Order: sequence, then C-alpha cells, then structure tokens
Amino acid sequence: MTNQKKGRVFSGARPTGRQHLGNYLGAIQNYIALQEDYECLYCIVDLHALTTVETTQNLIQNVYEMALDWLAAGIDPEKSIVFVQSHVPQVTELHTYLSMVTPMGKLTDLPTFKEKVRQHPQNVNYGLLGYPVLMAADILLYKADTVPVGIDQAPHIEFARETVRSFNYRYNTNVLVEPQMKATEVPKVLGIDGQAKMSKSLNNHIELAATPEETKARVMQMVTDPQRVRRSDPGNPDICNVFSLHKVFSSAEEVEHINVECRRAGIGCVQCKNLLAQNMNAHLSPFRARRAEIAAHPDNVWDILHTGRDRARKIAEQTITEVRLAIGLPS
Ligand code: ATP
Ligand code: MG
Repeated sequence: MTNQKKGRVFSGARPTGRQHLGNYLGAIQNYIALQEDYECLYCIVDLHALTTVETTQNLIQNVYEMALDWLAAGIDPEKSIVFVQSHVPQVTELHTYLSMVTPMGKLTDLPTFKEKVRQHPQNVNYGLLGYPVLMAADILLYKADTVPVGIDQAPHIEFARETVRSFNYRYNTNVLVEPQMKATEVPKVLGIDGQAKMSKSLNNHIELAATPEETKARVMQMVTDPQRVRRSDPGNPDICNVFSLHKVFSSAEEVEHINVECRRAGIGCVQCKNLLAQNMNAHLSPFRARRAEIAAHPDNVWDILHTGRDRARKIAEQTITEVRLAIGLPS
C-alpha cells in the first residue's frame, strides 16, 4: 500500500448465507471499484451474525462461502485486506469504549433495531441493540473515511459519524475519523416478493452462486405489478421489480422494448421473466466459473483470510493504542 491512495475504505457483510444480488449491486460493485484508488478492508462480520443466528453450525462454512463470493466477484487480495471480524478482537475493545458515549435512546430509536425486533421477537438480545456500536467500532478501528454499503445501512453510518463526534468531544481528541457512506447506483434491491429489501434472512433473495436452474426458478417466483392480473392487462414497469432488474442485466434495446410492450400488454410477465433469467445467468456465468476455480483450493482461501487478519491487526493495534491514550487508560 502506498501513500498515494485517496483514503481508506472499510465494509463488511454478515456470514448468514451466500451473497445475493442485493449485496452485489448495492455494495460489492463498489468494493471492487474502490480497490484501485483506496486502501480497502473487506470484513466478514461473523460477530454481527451472532446477533440473529440461533446456531453456529454453518458459521465457518458461511464465512468460507462469503470469501469465495467476494474473490470470485473481483476482490483482489493483493490490493485489499480481506479478513474475518472475530480474528481481530480489538474491535470488541473499541466497542466497549464507544458504548460509553452512546445514549441508549439512540439505539432503541434506530429503524433497523425496530425492524429486527419485529422479525425476531423471541431473540431481542443486548448484542442486537448494540449492533450499530459494534459496526461503528468496525469502521473506526481502521480509521476508514469511506464505507461502501447499501442504503439500508445509512442510519448506521450516521450513527457512526455521531459516535466519532461524541467520542472526540468527550476525550478532547481527534483520534477517531468521521466516515462517509458511498452508495452505488442501485442502493436498494427489492426481494423476489417485490416489497422488502432483498435479504438473506428474509429468504427473498437470489444468490449469485445459484445454478442457472435455481436462478430461473427464483425469477419465475418474482412478484410483478399486482394490478396486472390477466395476460391481456397492461402492466406498469415503473412499479415492477422484474423491470428494475432488467435495467441492470438487459441491453438498452431490451429495456426499451419491455418498457413499451408491457404497458400495452404486448409482452407477458412469463416471457419478461424468462428473458431476465437468461440475461442474469449470462451475466453471472463468468463469476460462477471463477468461483468454482477458487473453490478447488480451499486452503488458499483460508490463507488469504489469515494474511488479511495479520494486516488488519497491525492497523487495529495502532488505533487501540491511540484510543487508550486519548481516554487516559493506564498503559
Ligand atoms: P442479513 O439478512 O443477514 O442482514 P443481508 O442480506 O441484509 O443479510 P448484509 O450482510 O446485512 O446482507 O449486507 C451486506 C451489504 O450488502 C451491506 O452493505 C448492505 O447494505 C448491502 N445490502 C444488503 N441487502 C441489500 C439490498 N437488498 N440492496 C442493496 N444493498 C444491500
Ligand atoms: Mg442486513
């Protein structure tokens, strides 16, 4: 890494399943684009996964699969630090310090917390409440100035920025750096239900690594314009999630054709979905081939994660030393 880099990037994803189109379009595309000009850290946030998963049976496999997805998508371990959150325990120490400048009300008011409470009423734990504090610790530990994430994470980034101000003010320091969120052109991808954000935990997602057949089956399940009941009804592409994804995966001519024909019932939803599945599979085919190649050598993937751990720890140790000094803890 050289000093000519424009800044430092941090982002993470929960190893709660394989990466999906929402992760790819909302975040991973920027992970890849930013690694040319920034010093990047991409973290598999296994501690965050513990807030909602009830069993850790698949955790190690999920960590490995996420690394596969990222590497196959184009994250280059020569350029970026790819690592596992729990491998750098300094993050939990910083989490404790940040919790001291976090008013409880701020956490209970966050829309993401309220939503998780609705989704998991039986499992509202302290870790879930503190999720944004741990996420702030992730970013601040590495003094990242840029955080590529989907729009669902905007409140958490704002929280991290406020935490920096509170911490730096309380301890009269400038050791922590205020991060900026960086969104893609598709900051929110809807799930196959056409309603909620595509999420692993809602099982409304399409995995990047799915087979062409699985992908097609998922696309065929997608909810379209609910007003269009019969084939002869005109549809409204502006409110159809299938059309939104055509804009990503299909050619400009195809998008224009659907835009016109759907409105006058010239094309039916089945035909429209068939074309989407075909284009999506064509787009993902090189990714899937690369993923299979990388998966042939699992030890290499773990080596990459262990190298990432060592590189991340160096930065983390430095920040923690500065933070302890700023707080006034004994050395
Ligand atoms: P979970 O349901 O376990 O929370 P998830 O599907 O929401 O999983 P995360 O690991 O929480 O995925 O998110 C990883 C990254 O992908 C984050 O930057 C997040 O903002 C982004 N992301 C997730 N879902 C979407 C989506 N539907 N559209 C755009 N970006 C998304
Ligand atoms: Mg999520």
